[in-house]
Amino acid sequence: MTEDNDQQRREHGGIVAGFGSLLTGLKITTGKIFKPKVTLEYPHQKVEMSEAFRSCIAFVRFEDIDTHDCIACDACAIICPSDCITVTGDRMPDSKKKRADRFDVDFSTCSLCGLCLAACPTDTLKYSADFDDAGYQRGWVQDLLEPFDDPPIEELAKTLTAREERKKAERKAAREAAKAAKAAAKAKQEESGNA
Ligand code: SF4
Ligand code: SF4
Repeated sequence: MTEDNDQQRREHGGIVAGFGSLLTGLKITTGKIFKPKVTLEYPHQKVEMSEAFRSCIAFVRFEDIDTHDCIACDACAIICPSDCITVTGDRMPDSKKKRADRFDVDFSTCSLCGLCLAACPTDTLKYSADFDDAGYQRGWVQDLLEPFDDPPIEELAKTLTAREERKKAERKAAREAAKAAKAAAKAKQEESGNA
């Protein structure tokens, strides 16, 4: 009889413990449902990396011309310690400037040192934020021009010339503003000296 009672007590205890654990689980689950999600469905969704994150080099797409600004000057290829950049280009119609038609980077030897970014006169190189770029063989070469679908070269040349003229005008306006500010400061100084 006593053995039966003990058995019943153990069974009841087990049911109560199981119910308690179920309630604990439900409490945790319902608590998390209303909190902001901290996970993403990678690879369908990607994490937005911080601006300080540095991955493989890439071309900047400038908003005003909707493309990169590589003038095929070769400065990046010359300074690269890993000799992993190959760039070629040709002169644009009615312009002294060149435009890159090939820009290969061998990422299997690139050390992400950033010297090419520092050497670029048009600031068209940047670190990308692609954290999951990977190569599956030695000699992992990527053409940085691939994401760009430029208009015909004559049309592009016009856009780039217009941009150059706009920049020239901006530089001139900035120089004149600086000159005027300097003259105003000088006049003020002379005025206070005479007083
Ligand atoms: S980051 Fe350094 S190693 Fe990589 S391509 Fe640029 S200069 Fe070369
Ligand atoms: S330094 Fe800049 S502009 Fe010159 S080839 Fe390299 S990416 Fe192009």
